[in-house]
Amino acid sequence: MRTIDALAAIRSSRFDLPLTYDARDLDLRVGDVIRVPLGNREVIAFVVSGMSEVPADAKLKPVTEKLDVPRAFDETGLHLARFIAEYYLCTLGDALSAVVLSAAVPRMVDSFARIVTQPNPQRYPSVPARLVRLIWDDMPEGFGLEALLRHPEARRAGDRGALLRHVQTLVKSGELRRERRFVDPKTQEYRVRVLYPRDGTLRGAKARALLAFVNEAPGVPRADAILAGFSNAVIARAVKTGALEEREVSPAHARTRKTIPDAPFSATSEQADALSRIDRWLEARTFAEALIHGVTGSGKTYVYVEAIKRVVREGGRAIVLVPEISLTPQTARRFEDAFGDRVAVLHSALSERERFEAWQACMRGEIDVVVGARSAVFAPLRDVRLLVIDEAHETSYKQDTVPRYHAVAVARERMRAANGLLLLGSATPSLESYEAARRDRIALITLKERATAQPMPSVKIVDLAKEFEAGNKRIFSTALTEALADRLERGEKTVLFVNRRGSAGFLLCRTCGFVPVCPRCDVSLAAHRSEGVLRCHYCDHQQAIPVSCRSCSMPTIREFGVGTERVAEDVARLYPSARVLRMDSDTTTRVGDHARILSAFEEAGDVLVGTQMVAKGLDFPTVTLVGVVAADVGLHVPDFRAAERTFALISQVCGRSGRARPGEAIVQTYSPAHPAIVFSAAHDYEGFAETELAERRSLHYPPFVRLVYLGVISRSRQKASAQAERYAGVLRSLGGADVLGPAPYPIARLNNEWRMRIVLKTLKPKALREILRKHILPLARNDRDTRLSLNVDP
Ligand code: ADP
Ligand code: ZN
Repeated sequence: MRTIDALAAIRSSRFDLPLTYDARDLDLRVGDVIRVPLGNREVIAFVVSGMSEVPADAKLKPVTEKLDVPRAFDETGLHLARFIAEYYLCTLGDALSAVVLSAAVPRMVDSFARIVTQPNPQRYPSVPARLVRLIWDDMPEGFGLEALLRHPEARRAGDRGALLRHVQTLVKSGELRRERRFVDPKTQEYRVRVLYPRDGTLRGAKARALLAFVNEAPGVPRADAILAGFSNAVIARAVKTGALEEREVSPAHARTRKTIPDAPFSATSEQADALSRIDRWLEARTFAEALIHGVTGSGKTYVYVEAIKRVVREGGRAIVLVPEISLTPQTARRFEDAFGDRVAVLHSALSERERFEAWQACMRGEIDVVVGARSAVFAPLRDVRLLVIDEAHETSYKQDTVPRYHAVAVARERMRAANGLLLLGSATPSLESYEAARRDRIALITLKERATAQPMPSVKIVDLAKEFEAGNKRIFSTALTEALADRLERGEKTVLFVNRRGSAGFLLCRTCGFVPVCPRCDVSLAAHRSEGVLRCHYCDHQQAIPVSCRSCSMPTIREFGVGTERVAEDVARLYPSARVLRMDSDTTTRVGDHARILSAFEEAGDVLVGTQMVAKGLDFPTVTLVGVVAADVGLHVPDFRAAERTFALISQVCGRSGRARPGEAIVQTYSPAHPAIVFSAAHDYEGFAETELAERRSLHYPPFVRLVYLGVISRSRQKASAQAERYAGVLRSLGGADVLGPAPYPIARLNNEWRMRIVLKTLKPKALREILRKHILPLARNDRDTRLSLNVDP
């Protein structure tokens, strides 16, 4: 009898193991979607093994049918999912949920349509206004639940549970309608929406810009227009009035952009050296890993593109991972220019269907290069010989929900299995990579010079405590004020960076010290002046900004710490003629906002005020001044990587200055002697790494030990504590790791759940995983009052 193993395509802790079925005469491969009996029902399942033979008398249930839909994953995807399940201690089903695109699974879906054209928010005050706005302004054609749950703007309005509740409330109010339908990946033929110009005209600057954009490339995908900064609303209006025509075409006909010839320059000697070493590794066709440590502006992207060209010429394929935020049109463009329609750029403006289609094109062998964020590491490309991870130190490569995998670890496993080359690029490598390179466990390529031969900006540290003593109580030091005025006079651009990690402009009563906090989470509420609300950045609870203190009734409640809004206001007050733009999570709620602000800044802006978003991927020649408003904010967050992150951030931001003309950076701080600040100002990565590694070694932190965070979460504070104590006791008695805690998480209560954490440090991660699997997971399964959350290599 021929058999296969299948795993139900539902995430349930009860059915988390594959079961063996009689394959009958079906021809089944890994990743095929089938129907099988499970208990007394029929479920959709994935094939997770090859065929085997067992004696004919085995009592196995037969597979009901093979669905006529594309494979949900390939052998590589399954291999990586197994790796994730083993390494990150989750179920195979959890791991596969990262690999399988939801569009690949046939299922019943709920979609929602508006019944009224104008919402009446006063009828459902518990639903955040931003969510209502999103649904009524941006989703005129209705929406699927999954799409909503993934939408970045919606996610800011609450977690999964909260969003489901909100949608339910809207349905109950009678203003939204629920529709159920069966979605089958095969039955909908894939189409891309593209835009063509028509005769009509349209008023408004935005609309005219859109028409010009489409005129330049008739047939341009709608998603590209959105990425370029045009909103859904503007596009919809242009189509409605007949100024543009929207057609649906097959994706092969959607790419109409001309490719631009190769870069008009030849490699610098450092780039040439890097490429020849890469060549040798590629030729060897065995697994290799290398770190490209190149200062900002050293031309790493050029190295990636040239290396990939060689791979493709030889018949191989490549994957490039980029951090979410840098998936701007400029980055995508450089790869599209080089590889034309053989590249699939998986950017955030793609719908799940479009993503799925790109995946299918990969499986059919039509794609040579995939560029995308974290999950592109699973792209079903065959014969991947090179995997590049740009800005490999970025935190966005670690998924912060189950499965909590790190794309660098998964990429390493993928290249190891495929005998390929893993390239990690960064101006500020993670200390893990750097230490591995120092010990020759991976290769190191160093690019010390900027490709454009422009020196690194000179960086000046300003001690804010001294400024204060000298009587300057404003946000800007004397040095920054003067430098800013100078740039405005010369018509050069300035970037002002406001670190928001750990500081969110909360309110504090100067009289009694009262701080408004979220009623559901243990965090202070952040003030959003332009909307007049206090908001919880975790659960989106909102309330009006109070005029007086609730505790002592004095009118002395003020904002503490500075946000981008304050800084932008101050610039405008000091220099009324300056054109100031702001980029942060409030001004970039929709896909394309990012690009929109950048192009406005490029065309006519003087000063760009922003959060971490301005630190990356911004390459404007005329920026000659970068000001870091308060550099030490991020130093005080309770995270052993606080110094490393601050160093990386300050280095990145300062690197934005002087890319074409000599530039300057001014770093304001209350900790002028902190290594993260001193070394970043001196462009001295090695110096910082030495100091920080010594500290990590003596305090037993990665990369010298491996960490696992074990969290216990419960509605009841006592139950969370008691269960955490139980786990800690078991782990202490078994040995294999240093057991710290349990102690409350830095945020001890989130969404009305209490959270306790045990920190495990070990030199033998594999043995520790075994212990957790054998002794902790079974205890957790049997406890209904608490949830266990494991984070390996946090
Ligand atoms: P990085 O990613 O290392 O910060 P980029 O790849 O963005 O650097 O390159 C920085 C700038 O240098 C870009 O404008 C790029 O066009 C330019 N550049 C790259 N390589 C060369 C070269 N060999 N000669 C001249 N300019 C180069
Ligand atoms: Zn909250």
